[in-house]
Amino acid sequence: MAPVQRGRWYRIADYDRPSDLVTLGDVDGDELQVPYSRLKLSRDVPEKAVVYNTSTFESTPGAEMVYVAVCPKGHRIPDVSLKDEQIHCHECTRDYECEHE
Ligand SMILES: [Zn+2]
Repeated sequence: MAPVQRGRWYRIADYDRPSDLVTLGDVDGDELQVPYSRLKLSRDVPEKAVVYNTSTFESTPGAEMVYVAVCPKGHRIPDVSLKDEQIHCHECTRDYECEHE
């Protein structure tokens, strides 16, 4: 099953209150259940690219933080600077404002 990708936006297909599980539609053509607490919900279709850093707890101490962005259409944009206010998605061939996770 396809994993849910961080920074991407998914349509909510269903929400089961007793189990607190949200069913996401269109996760690479599949549906996937995810705990509500792991999601950030938005009423509107996103307009901004989401920027987050890729470092994990296992990464080397002192290693440089690496940031990537995901555009509203779900394209991954590598090598983003935190100072960037606009980023360019080559697949959409347009610029997006950034929003930091
Ligand atoms: Zn794009």
